[in-house]
Amino acid sequence: MSGPAVIIKELHRLRLHVVDLSEKIAFAPKQKAVQEKKLGQAEETLTKAKESIARLTLDMRDKENSVRATQQQIKKYEKQLDESANKKEYETLKSELATSKGHVAKLEDEILADMGTSEEKTAQLPSVEQATKKARDDFAQWQIDFQERLARFAAEKTRAQDELKAVEATLPVEVRQQYDRFIAAKGNDCLAGVKGKICAECYTEVTTQMIADLRREAFVICKNCGRMLYIAT
Ligand SMILES: [Zn+2]
Repeated sequence: MSGPAVIIKELHRLRLHVVDLSEKIAFAPKQKAVQEKKLGQAEETLTKAKESIARLTLDMRDKENSVRATQQQIKKYEKQLDESANKKEYETLKSELATSKGHVAKLEDEILADMGTSEEKTAQLPSVEQATKKARDDFAQWQIDFQERLARFAAEKTRAQDELKAVEATLPVEVRQQYDRFIAAKGNDCLAGVKGKICAECYTEVTTQMIADLRREAFVICKNCGRMLYIAT
């Protein structure tokens, strides 16, 4: 059977393992939020791409209607111009006509540019859709892996906690009492390995006698920081 120093080493390992697993489990919601944000961005890109095409189509329709209305107005002006006998009215109509024609030309140019943009955006749409589909698939797969990982962490934590209890039960009664008190007061921070001759937590050199005691697996407390010691490898 192992002596207290060796048991304490194992207890420290198990306790840190439980902490590590608890942190991994606690971190899960954050990881999920990051993945959801990534998917949300992909979905938003697709929505925006579709909206932008729809908006262009509507704009073009409005402009085409405006062109038709203005062209009718132009015909009206041209007819009035033919029939006009008044010089002042003639000049006014000519000016109105020029303005309307200019308006039509401008709208037609805009429609042409919109058509080009719309075609370009429509051509890009399949790749955006593909990227979004990939983001959805990736997220679905990530969720499956994530759930598996979480379940594994939870099972491992339960196992480590059970093992911890079992190992704690092997401590000699008088050591167990001190250990329980120390744990209750300071948690895992009451345990420290000795590396070389140095307490890994307070960086103080321990005595040769303490090293000798630890080697024979005895219960040793750091004289400087009061932690329960073991020889770290
Ligand atoms: Zn120490």
